[in-house]
Amino acid sequence: MQTFTTPMMKQYLEIKKNYQDCLLFYRMGDFYEFFLEDATIGAQVLNITLTSRPKGKDGRIPMAGVPFHAVDVYVAKLVKAGYKVAICEQMSPPNTRGIIKREVIRIVTPGTMLDEKALEKKENNYIISLFYENDQLALAIADISTGYFAVKQVTFQQLAVSLQNELAALAPSECILSPQLYNDGSFLQLLKRQNGMNIFCFQDWEQFASEAKSILKQHFGLKTLAGFGIDDQLLLQQTAAALIGYLQQTQKTKVIHIKRIEQLMNTEYVQLDRSTIFNLELFSTLREHNDKGSFLSVIDQTETSMGGRLLKFWLRTPLYNKEKITARHDAVEELLKNQTLREEAAVLLRQIADIERIISRLSVKIGNARDLVNLKLSLQVILQIKKILAKQTVRHPEFISGSSFETKKMPKQVRHDDYSLLQQIEKNISNEIEEVVAYIEANIAPEPPIDLRIGGMIRSQVNTELDALHKTIRQSKTWMEEYEAKEREKIGIGSLKVRFNSVFGYYIEVSKSNLALIPDNYQRKQTLVNGERFMTVELKKQEEIVLRAEEKMKELEYELFWQILDHVLSFTQTIQTAANAIAQLDCLLGFAALAQKRNYVRAQFSEDKLELKAARHSVVETLLTDTRFVPNDLILESGEQSVLLITGPNMAGKSVFIRQVALIVLLNQIGSFVPAEGAKLPLVDRIFVRSGASDVITEGLSTFMVEMVETAYILYHATQKSLIVMDEIGRGTSTYDGISIAWAVAEYLATHFPSCPKTLFATHYHELQQLEEKYPGVIVNYHMATDNQHNQPTFLYTLMQGAASHSFGIAVAKLAGVPEEVVQKADKKLQLLEQQLEPQVIKVIPTLKSQPLNMAEHLISKELQAIDISQVTPLEALNKLAELKEQLRMFDKPDEFAERD
Ligand code: ADP
Repeated sequence: MQTFTTPMMKQYLEIKKNYQDCLLFYRMGDFYEFFLEDATIGAQVLNITLTSRPKGKDGRIPMAGVPFHAVDVYVAKLVKAGYKVAICEQMSPPNTRGIIKREVIRIVTPGTMLDEKALEKKENNYIISLFYENDQLALAIADISTGYFAVKQVTFQQLAVSLQNELAALAPSECILSPQLYNDGSFLQLLKRQNGMNIFCFQDWEQFASEAKSILKQHFGLKTLAGFGIDDQLLLQQTAAALIGYLQQTQKTKVIHIKRIEQLMNTEYVQLDRSTIFNLELFSTLREHNDKGSFLSVIDQTETSMGGRLLKFWLRTPLYNKEKITARHDAVEELLKNQTLREEAAVLLRQIADIERIISRLSVKIGNARDLVNLKLSLQVILQIKKILAKQTVRHPEFISGSSFETKKMPKQVRHDDYSLLQQIEKNISNEIEEVVAYIEANIAPEPPIDLRIGGMIRSQVNTELDALHKTIRQSKTWMEEYEAKEREKIGIGSLKVRFNSVFGYYIEVSKSNLALIPDNYQRKQTLVNGERFMTVELKKQEEIVLRAEEKMKELEYELFWQILDHVLSFTQTIQTAANAIAQLDCLLGFAALAQKRNYVRAQFSEDKLELKAARHSVVETLLTDTRFVPNDLILESGEQSVLLITGPNMAGKSVFIRQVALIVLLNQIGSFVPAEGAKLPLVDRIFVRSGASDVITEGLSTFMVEMVETAYILYHATQKSLIVMDEIGRGTSTYDGISIAWAVAEYLATHFPSCPKTLFATHYHELQQLEEKYPGVIVNYHMATDNQHNQPTFLYTLMQGAASHSFGIAVAKLAGVPEEVVQKADKKLQLLEQQLEPQVIKVIPTLKSQPLNMAEHLISKELQAIDISQVTPLEALNKLAELKEQLRMFDKPDEFAERD
């Protein structure tokens, strides 16, 4: 390590020693500076100048700095680039003799950012800690910007798969590990597959983990952790304590706004694994990885950031609890019926600031008096919402479905809770909020400055000493005015001014033309172009009085601000509960708005049957501009018509249909109405959506390998209460392998469970249609209808019972503009292949063995299948065709090619 002799550099190294894994932003007057290696990195990442300054005997030292007022922007940039930044402040006044005292006041990391501008409004910013032992994986999850803290423990069969599934929806920006796990290369490699997650080693992990229980009890001020359900769960306690420890260390505070631990139980939520989240494009689209066009973007009608974040959470964790879902449905229905309430509430919601984040910033001592005012204004609006909710929500709402599909009224649900969800929301906005509003109102000025050090924040009559100081300042100002008038009169200069500025203090200003009249007791202070400034003994005395009073006033206001803030923060839990209530209301109002705007209906619960009438795809129906979305009906039951085997040509609407069913089930279980004319839905424990057709999903891994790992995952984890959606399973390998695997998977689903899980199986392998005969009543053939006049398919997007006649692949090629000559040739070849292949394929299926195909047939059919017609340009199609023709020629006349070789 380098050594330095200058006191400042010694101090720098002393501090830096404790923050080796951070870039140290070292405050020097109006700048934050990086030194040495940090300067090189900082200059490069921030694109700022790397300088070097002479430091006495220490020679030249590399430096790079940024102005203090812009530091947040630079910190955000560094953190986004994956660095941790330690902010080192000057703790003694700048005019202190000797070296200024400095301390690191906060460490900013990707998962602990609190800067409003750097955070996405409708996104949580999660940091997690993670540990595993034997077959148990423990996670602690926090969003320090909102005060959220949760733990989750899962049993895994394959660590890699479980990790992927847990992290996919959460998308944490930071993960901390114990040194032991961090140094395990293969584990680290697994974690690094998670995009956008920064992984850091927490050196003090063990210190917190070994005392986990007492650390948590102390943090939450509890005698037992039983209330959180983790009193005897050591792994969870350790993981949680490590995360709390890390947050305390980075924030240099006790993070008091983290008030509770939520335990996420797999039994309470529908688990959505990585592949399902991706294939349903819940949070971003598959192709562009864009939020726009995602399912969330279509269903999100929330008005507040807090509501937006909660909706995303709901979508990540659909409920597996009929009562809770019914409560949300009831609320949506009540809101739908009550237009006045809906309209009034929407107007008010728009006026609410992100109070979850305000209270978090204030809790870690970032923030100012203006934040308190904003908090007050929002709380006032929240109280108005409470009032209208109290006035308009009814007890025990009777609910009548808006669905015309439904013939009888649902029976009234008996709930252990006496209140409807809207009433609970109203009750969760506590009357104590009034107290907080009144307190801030009484103590903080209505328009305080952002700077905490310049006074002007505290109202009068809060503190008698402060009032006395203000009086002195006021009197002094009056004195100045009187003095000015007196001097003008005495000396006879009408334009004489008594003024103040921060550099020279108080002075008397006289213009040049009047200088002859100046009396002897005026001492010259400054010469200007047009005049002179003077001081008198009297004025100096008065100046000292007022400056001392102002200085004292600023100090006192600063002290009082923290006292007032402490009192406000004693209401943190009340405020957080109200914020959550508002977020819930926002989501439910959003569901009502969605239902109204897009004609969604309330689904009835059924024991087992899944029945849809005129169902639609939430996203696709909003994207079609020239055509109308064609709705479809569906009936699925466990054990009877459980597996729908859907065939039909490419582009016939198979994928859209099977995904829309999964989305409808999902929407229902997050509490929303659904896009259909009628729906009867069972409670589903898991939703699996797999696609064998996508090369985008796999991102570098072998497509087929991923497909098979995912298929295995379903077969292990599905139950008879699950919904399984499989799109073109087995497509990633050769035809025979593909058919065999798809066949075996369908068979397994049909036979393995006491009653078969509801499954939608879209395939272009027509051979699978024979399964209907083998499992009558369980596996049923359907197809997406096409109108096939003159061998030209027109897609009808209608689901019909029965097998598809053929796949129209070549007709689709024709539609895509493939030249007639090639189409004809392909057609001929197809007929030949069909004659030759059909018997073999059928023979091979039950034995699950693959056989080598005739090379030409194999190659060409594989190539044709791999073409995604919707994605190729005419030029690419032509090139592909030329390539195919060349290959055909090679097989037709092998000798010719052999000679050439
Ligand atoms: P497949 O899976 O059979 O190849 P897709 O489900 O991908 O076909 O559908 C292809 C296109 O057809 C979609 O991108 C959409 O534009 C259109 N489409 C699908 N279903 C419908 C429908 N029900 N109504 C109208 N258009 C539809």
